[in-house]
Amino acid sequence: MQQIGHFIAGHPQAEASGRTGAVFNPATGEQSGTVALASAAEVDEAVRAAQAAFPGWAATPPLQRARVLGRFLRILEERTGELAAVITAEHGKVLSDARGEVQRGLEVVEFATGAPNLLKGDFTADVGRDIDSHAVRQPLGVVAGITPFNFPAMVPMWMFPVALACGNCFVLKPSERDPSASLLIARWLAEAGLPAGVFSVVQGDKVAVDALLADSRVKAVSFVGSTPIARYIYETAAKNGKRCQALGGAKNHMVVMPDADLDQVADALMGAAYGSAGERCMAISVAVPVGQETADALVARLVPRVRALKVGPGTDAEAEMGPLVSAAHRDKVAGYIASGEADGAKLLVDGRGLELQGYEQGYFIGGTLFDHVTADMAIYREEIFGPVLCVVRADDFEQAVSLVNAHEFGNGTAIFTRDGDAARAYADRIEVGMVGINVPIPVPMAFHSFGGWKASLFGDHHMHGAEGVRFYTRLKTVTSRWPTGLRSGADFVMPTIK
Ligand code: NAD
Repeated sequence: MQQIGHFIAGHPQAEASGRTGAVFNPATGEQSGTVALASAAEVDEAVRAAQAAFPGWAATPPLQRARVLGRFLRILEERTGELAAVITAEHGKVLSDARGEVQRGLEVVEFATGAPNLLKGDFTADVGRDIDSHAVRQPLGVVAGITPFNFPAMVPMWMFPVALACGNCFVLKPSERDPSASLLIARWLAEAGLPAGVFSVVQGDKVAVDALLADSRVKAVSFVGSTPIARYIYETAAKNGKRCQALGGAKNHMVVMPDADLDQVADALMGAAYGSAGERCMAISVAVPVGQETADALVARLVPRVRALKVGPGTDAEAEMGPLVSAAHRDKVAGYIASGEADGAKLLVDGRGLELQGYEQGYFIGGTLFDHVTADMAIYREEIFGPVLCVVRADDFEQAVSLVNAHEFGNGTAIFTRDGDAARAYADRIEVGMVGINVPIPVPMAFHSFGGWKASLFGDHHMHGAEGVRFYTRLKTVTSRWPTGLRSGADFVMPTIK
């Protein structure tokens, strides 16, 4: 059985607090390891190491910081398969999807290798006579990242490459459900030449999170996870004087207009609703066909395809969808399916009770499809985070827009149409942070920024891209007068240009 520990001050560190958690292989249901759960003492050690490393790293020229990230990028490219295998073993997603996750993460590393360009400041000569001003972005110091189970490599990589490029030191607290990816990342960063202490991993649960939130040396916190925890992290971090970006849960709608190509829509929905077993914050969990004819035609296309979904262990090259992350989560998703039925939604395909030969103890649930879902049902209001697609029928475009805008969450959304007017009006009026037009999962590329609206994000900054650079730096504006020796006498009024 694997013992999964921390990585602090440049070295792997075994469990020391006396507390551990179990790690499972979701495809077999077998325990594959135990993970250390840090106490405040291990958090203190990681933050101390980060604090000690900070002056040296902040003073390292951005080009040299970028070169370390460049070496890390090459390692990631060469060993994508190794990292993907670790993700599949603990998360359960199919290997091709795990490789895609690593790819989307390493693109942020690629973006961060542009550090010298990203950190270029502004300069204005002659803001007054013989006076110049320049603005620079300086690092914050020690910053922390707290990440969810569903992207154990990509979500940390939304955060630390930009933080490190900007000159900060980073303490990562990954999900305790799939902790091993973070250790590979830490080892490879060290191999790329990152100085000890600049990046540490503290495994753990609420105890470690609360220690990070209470620590005055931690200047900023990036969080991705469920909405109740995101709200808690944001409120606590803000109360403790920290900068915080806390990304929460989602319920992403795809509006299907009557003029859309329904075969293209069906393809898009299959991948967006059932890929990664629906355990994606950008998964489409609600389809909103406009008009009864569109709805009937769409549902007729979806039913046979959902029934034919190939479910299997993530290591099976034929599988389109793997298991859910844990037995408890599988049971929760099954509970939602029961509640949808009880509330009167029409269950067209039921994924419960799926058993795979040789994997009887795995946490599998098959693709599930509901029609005639209404806005008052729990399966519509709440995030299920499983392979369950709800069809909510809308009479017209206005009703579809009102439905999406009334929802608590505002992470991602998509519209499928051939009508430019409808697409433009949708992108303009919809209260959601990331919008796809004939694109089902509009995850912004690394050089744009990722983030939702409403209960999907607490804070002011989205992640990576220019927003990431702003989040991980603070602005300083320097006003200087040269040559010295000029005297104009004491002036007691507000300086102005005459
Ligand atoms: P989670 O909120 O349970 O856990 C996230 C992190 O918070 C983990 O590191 C966990 O250890 C920690 N945590 C859990 N309970 C805590 C508590 N009481 N106090 C302090 N820390 C605590 O989320 P999860 O189940 O790991 O991930 C799935 C969720 O993440 C979904 O809601 C999904 O939508 C969301 N998510 C959102 C985005 C986004 O970009 N908005 C991206 C990925 C995942």
